[in-house]
Amino acid sequence: ASFGYRDVPAAEKASLVRQVFESVAPRYDLMNDLMSGGVHRLWKNTLVDVLHPRPGEKFLDVAGGTGDVAFRIYRRQGDRPDITVCDINPAMLAVGRDRAVDRGMLKGLTWTTGDAESLPFPDRSFDGYTIAFGLRNVTDIDKALGEAHRVLKPGGRFYCLEFSKVTSAPIGRVYDAYSSRALPFFGRIVARDADSYRYLHESIRRFPPQRELARRMREQGFANVTWRDMTLGVVALHAGWRV
Ligand code: SAM
Repeated sequence: ASFGYRDVPAAEKASLVRQVFESVAPRYDLMNDLMSGGVHRLWKNTLVDVLHPRPGEKFLDVAGGTGDVAFRIYRRQGDRPDITVCDINPAMLAVGRDRAVDRGMLKGLTWTTGDAESLPFPDRSFDGYTIAFGLRNVTDIDKALGEAHRVLKPGGRFYCLEFSKVTSAPIGRVYDAYSSRALPFFGRIVARDADSYRYLHESIRRFPPQRELARRMREQGFANVTWRDMTLGVVALHAGWRV
């Protein structure tokens, strides 16, 4: 079946995204390694390095999927981990929970179904909010940024890791050719689902570039907004503070 991803109205995007992640959940981790050549691990390591979690702090990982970011934070928090993983898709969370059990990561890790656009948490609850490869799947990015700001404590920090705009034009063309052909190819061969990975390419292409995302974070109240490009802007890590 084709998702008709090119002309998806906002109202249908949510159900499209649900189908995509329900379909890929069992193979999601393998696909990440194949498509990025394992580099997604380094990007996530950098995110958690910069986040610099301390024992006893409360973290929320939104669109946390199968737990990659949460597990990294967990390890850094030593014997006082406190992480809530929130994702809209129970199929992704189910894979994450199984992985957590395999790793013996039980105490201090909570799995919650919820939408980034209306988070099921009170105001000023968390010291840190992370979202990795999640924001581009959200229908209303500004609403999700506003929610991130709301649930952070004053002094809390926000980090978004996301595919972004490649900073060199020639390399951008190579990357675009790779992602428009290779992603659906891997999708077809490994996940038996080319459409989902075509959606992935499309969602990357449409996501706001570095400067625009930074501006939209400021509009939702974040201070000291900065970003750093990784792998020539294939991915950017945006940071902001609630003051
Ligand atoms: N953060 C994980 C990682 O880096 O491996 C998973 C990223 S995965 C590409 C995107 C995740 O976003 C999926 O698990 C999907 O269910 C979730 N998602 C999509 N829309 C969402 C929303 N509105 N609220 C919360 N999660 C959402």
